[in-house]
Amino acid sequence: MVNFADLNYLDLKQIISNIFLNLDKKKISMRTNQIWKFYYQKGYFDPKLFSNLPEEILQKLKEEINFDRPKIKNKQISNDGTIKWLLELNDKNLVETVYIPSDNHATLCISSQVGCTLNCKFCHTGVQPLVKNLSAHEIVNQILIAKDELKEWDKEKKINNIVYMGMGEPFYNFENIKKSIEILKDMNGLGFSNKRITVSTSGISPNIKKAAKEIGTYLALSLHAPNNKIRDSIMPINKKYNIEDVIKHCKEYAIENGEKIFIEYVLLKDVNDSEECAKQLSKIMSQFPCKLNLIQFNPWPGVKYKTSSTEQTSKFMNIIKGYGHIVTIRKSRGDDILGACGQLKTASEREKRLTLLK
Ligand code: SF4
Repeated sequence: MVNFADLNYLDLKQIISNIFLNLDKKKISMRTNQIWKFYYQKGYFDPKLFSNLPEEILQKLKEEINFDRPKIKNKQISNDGTIKWLLELNDKNLVETVYIPSDNHATLCISSQVGCTLNCKFCHTGVQPLVKNLSAHEIVNQILIAKDELKEWDKEKKINNIVYMGMGEPFYNFENIKKSIEILKDMNGLGFSNKRITVSTSGISPNIKKAAKEIGTYLALSLHAPNNKIRDSIMPINKKYNIEDVIKHCKEYAIENGEKIFIEYVLLKDVNDSEECAKQLSKIMSQFPCKLNLIQFNPWPGVKYKTSSTEQTSKFMNIIKGYGHIVTIRKSRGDDILGACGQLKTASEREKRLTLLK
């Protein structure tokens, strides 16, 4: 049975018209609107709350559509206000979602897979093998659960931006990502525009161009190295899609989309933070419209990499700025709850181990 949050507006309309063959077009649209708004604007996830719908319609909806949602297994709140939820999916797999508030806006970082195949050496999620791709409803529900928890329904938005930067490589789950974004963008529902959504990729070249045409949000490229030698050593995916290949597709994305691409670069002490690396990175940045997010490395138990010093980080940033590029430093958030960039995994793995011990 299909889950409600797997349906876009037109899918729902189709189901309603299949169920109620006797309804005319106007009534089908009216019912679809009502139900869609109950779910996505009011946060009514139980059809019992669809108060003004006739019992016959409710009954048939429940026969056709599954309204199950993931459960919150654990919730951690960082000293800096970051919140991390560990969600248990209906099949008992676990994923993590992180809410990151800042002065004037807040971002929700969502996962696209359970585990990840890419095995980036500095990333804790990459140590966990891929278990599965998330379905559209498992992705959309991360946002719905966060809205519920933040009591955002009918009130001022507490989630301004959505970033697909949690567990997994979004472009290895392309169709479900695309469907989830269609649902997020519906202006009668959650209403996130293209400029409020960023999809991050480690450079799955064939899907970069496809995303420009079929998805159209902001793109973030997890580059993390200024040449193939270093990138090969920290991101095995580079052996399949090397820097030149990725740059070529990013140029196409920028032309199609008309927006700058965010380059994500985690600074690893004595690996990719030298002055020479900064110069090489500047050359890459000159090739297409982009801006750079420098990310402080967040260590996790057992990792061999170290965080770059503040001094080296400033030097690196100033060299790039000297070439006329836009650079920001992303402050580490939620690292006390292992909710920061590249740290997602621990809680879900620990949870699994505990279950096995029971
Ligand atoms: S950085 Fe992203 S793509 Fe790389 S292993 Fe971690 S989750 Fe996967």
